[in-house]
Amino acid sequence: MNQFWNAISQHIVAPTRLSGLQVMALLHPFGRTLHLRRHAASVIIARVQLISALFALLVPLWSLIDLLVFPAATAGSMFILRLGSSIIFVILAWPRELSTTSPYRQAATMLLLMLMVPPIFYLLSLQIIDPQSLDQTQRLVAQLYTFMPTIVLGGLAIFPLTALETLLFSLPVLLTAVAGMFQGGAHFSLEQHGAALWFMFMMIGVAIFSGMSQSHYMATLVLKAMNDPLTGAYTRQSGGEALDLMFRLASMSGKPLSVVFLDLDHFKAINDNYGHEAGDQALQTLAEGVRHSLRRSDILIRWGGEEFVAVLPDTPTGSIMTLLQRLRSEGFGRRPEGTPITASIGVAESLTDDVNNWPALVALADQRMYEAKRQGRDCVVLPGNVRLSLA
Ligand code: GH3
Ligand code: MG
Ligand code: MG
Repeated sequence: MNQFWNAISQHIVAPTRLSGLQVMALLHPFGRTLHLRRHAASVIIARVQLISALFALLVPLWSLIDLLVFPAATAGSMFILRLGSSIIFVILAWPRELSTTSPYRQAATMLLLMLMVPPIFYLLSLQIIDPQSLDQTQRLVAQLYTFMPTIVLGGLAIFPLTALETLLFSLPVLLTAVAGMFQGGAHFSLEQHGAALWFMFMMIGVAIFSGMSQSHYMATLVLKAMNDPLTGAYTRQSGGEALDLMFRLASMSGKPLSVVFLDLDHFKAINDNYGHEAGDQALQTLAEGVRHSLRRSDILIRWGGEEFVAVLPDTPTGSIMTLLQRLRSEGFGRRPEGTPITASIGVAESLTDDVNNWPALVALADQRMYEAKRQGRDCVVLPGNVRLSLA
């Protein structure tokens, strides 16, 4: 089983060896970071919009063929059906902002809506076109409509979805197609519908692997662009974007957002006495330790050389002190000579400090960090300029 997954992940999904955790992240979307979820949502929405724009034009244009092939009354009814579909595609293609609070729900709704238009179009077309009284050409065109659900399932392949998501999105399409097979009290027959079903299952399979592969490349690219290569913390650029979003979410919910600004004490001495490598190593250990102590919802940003910013949503100052004391006693790591690495820390909190934008919040925490340096290092300065020792 393990070998099977290794083969699949290496040859089909990605040409690199994936860890068990990475494979799980391609199977289901739960546990994705906020940033990744937003990114996936924006990619999905952009593609839904592009395809919808294309379909908004092509679907009514096909009326010309209906008019050539079918009697005027049938072509007329089909035109109304096409117009209805086209309006839905126009609505989907319309430019829109990514939702701040639930971008994923927005993307999923748009995708589902787009996916369901062709199969429902197909179901309704069965009401308009009577399969019993068709000539050769008419039957050929009507058969094209039968393939609509299959085409839609194949189209799922262009979306960066996990296996579970592709499966869930294909289910309603598949069910609509099956409903079409039983339309009008017809008896399901394997020779008539077997091929269509087979194609649909094949398309779902292709879409699952393609979606996983795209999810993997998307996650890799997003992580590469977002994280500082030395410490794995967010870069200042991506951290700023995350902070912006976290600040807006906190403001909307009325919950506090805390920012912890951290500058290591006498760090230059490590470089000077033991070399830059030793300094790099210390930074790596430190970032790992801090990230370990943070919750899933917190983020760590490398603000500059040996300056870090931790962002903690919905965390009162009291819990921050507990976190910092724990960090100080085990998390910052040790200097090459064996003494613990210490830091001067400034804390700012959105509600207590009454600020209305995140740069002001970071600036306050930065000022307090300087105040902590001035007051002898290895300490925290909290809102209200309260100084607390960490030793
Ligand atoms: P203090 O903050 O306590 O005042 O003293 P400091 O020695 O830490 O002074 P400061 O914060 O001004 O200096 C930061 C030093 O961190 C400068 C540089 O040598 C070192 N540094 C910054 N980035 C890196 C890095 O990526 N790797 C290594 N090895 N050192 C770095
Ligand atoms: Mg510094
Ligand atoms: Mg320093």
